[in-house]
Amino acid sequence: MSFSLAIVGRPNVGKSTLFNRLVGKRLALVDDTPGVTRDRREGEGRLADLKFRLIDTAGLEDGAPGTLQDRMRQQTSQALSEVDVALMLYDARAGVTPVDEHFADWLRRSDTPAILVANKCEARSAQEGVYDAYALGLGEPVVLSAEHGEGLADLYQSIVEKLKTQGIDPYADENDGTDTASASSGPREPTEGDLDFEFEDTEQDDVDTRPLRLAIVGRPNAGKSTLINALVGEDRLITGPEAGLTRDSIAVDWEWDGRPVRLFDTAGLRRRARITEKLEKLSAADTLRAVQFAEVVVLLIDAELGLERQDLKIAERVVEEGRGLVLAINKWDAVDDRLSVQRGVQDAITRSLPQVKGVPVITFSALEEKGLHKLMPAVEEVYSLWNARIPTSVFNRWLADALEKHPAPSVKGRRIKIRYGAQIKTRPPTFLLFCNRPEDLPDSYRRYLENELRRDFDLPATPLRFVLKKGE
Ligand code: GDP
Ligand code: GDP
Repeated sequence: MSFSLAIVGRPNVGKSTLFNRLVGKRLALVDDTPGVTRDRREGEGRLADLKFRLIDTAGLEDGAPGTLQDRMRQQTSQALSEVDVALMLYDARAGVTPVDEHFADWLRRSDTPAILVANKCEARSAQEGVYDAYALGLGEPVVLSAEHGEGLADLYQSIVEKLKTQGIDPYADENDGTDTASASSGPREPTEGDLDFEFEDTEQDDVDTRPLRLAIVGRPNAGKSTLINALVGEDRLITGPEAGLTRDSIAVDWEWDGRPVRLFDTAGLRRRARITEKLEKLSAADTLRAVQFAEVVVLLIDAELGLERQDLKIAERVVEEGRGLVLAINKWDAVDDRLSVQRGVQDAITRSLPQVKGVPVITFSALEEKGLHKLMPAVEEVYSLWNARIPTSVFNRWLADALEKHPAPSVKGRRIKIRYGAQIKTRPPTFLLFCNRPEDLPDSYRRYLENELRRDFDLPATPLRFVLKKGE
């Protein structure tokens, strides 16, 4: 195991549940009642292709003497001193409590870097609780449901990014020397930016060294296997099944123009699924999983069939999950009226998915290996848009213009005012707007802002998100 993590947080936020998910064996007791006595647990955690030592610090509530702070110090500080990164969980449905604040405060002062995790966020409930958490000063929270296994891909990416900032290679082979807390890392001072809705731009440093996580998805027979074979070669070993939760996902490491790429191969799963049963069901679930683990998704379309409902559904899902999208029309060799095929796809996508206006549509023949050189430049471009960052001052100048050009409407006789905003995250670009009545802002106005932003900053093909927050 190349690194170690501890799960910390107040009682009942879901630490044991997350521990069980990551360790995979039902080692820790989970109980609804706060106060259930638990020991510190340790195990080998797995998340996709990461392997790590995981410490669960549940059990703060077990009636040990002293104040909560005392018990926290006793039971958590030992764990923290042993690990590279702490995952601080809080319950986003309950919102941020004073005890969470205390934990955050304590973690900010500790030498162990922390990732804030907003738990119990299944089905995108608890959005408010998520954005309240920015005030904790631990940066952008990972939105997770430990119980339902949602958000694990984001957790994965945060862990990888955090380790990289510590100079730890998350993919290193077993190596005792790197297994303990890195002594070289200084304390993580809360920066003004943390509170100002701007975050350390850790991911940017690694953009070129980290594998780009690419999924190739599409309906059965679109040509996924053929494409992957053409890209990586028939004889390349498929590295999978992946451990733990993602045992159904199959990844293959590849390199393009010196750039490492991790391909999530849904075709590979289907090959295995055929042996068992429930082909359709499994492949849909795996498509989603591949999408969640990817940064950019290539949706493969069969030129002979054009863009059909099932393709659109996948594309919608990609956008919903906030991934970058590239459309690739395969079997270009098999169609005569190419122009009308390409127009058909382009029109259908523009009509049905205005959220990713300008998404690249490329064409090739995987079978004849013609036109494949167009794929990766398109992927790279979408990837960089997905990582785009607009400085706060520039964003607010733009916002003022957009608001002036077309002011927010009056609803129920009162004008809605948007004061200012900031980009709070990349991957995909996400913007927080302070608004006097967020609940009343019509969707059409949000779309207006999105379209303007997309046009003015030239941001096609990536989802853009707006989060409204009440503020005068
Ligand atoms: P701990 O005290 O922090 O270890 O919390 P537990 O893991 O024991 O979880 C406390 C309660 O929250 C249990 O009833 C869990 O089933 C529940 N829980 C944990 N994760 C989630 C989640 O993602 N969503 C929901 N709705 N409940 C969760
Ligand atoms: P998957 O189900 O998406 O993995 O699709 P496969 O890669 O198994 O391909 C399905 C069928 O389409 C096979 O018969 C392939 O030979 C064929 N096929 C794949 N790519 C092309 C292509 O570029 N041109 C043509 N004409 N056929 C292709």
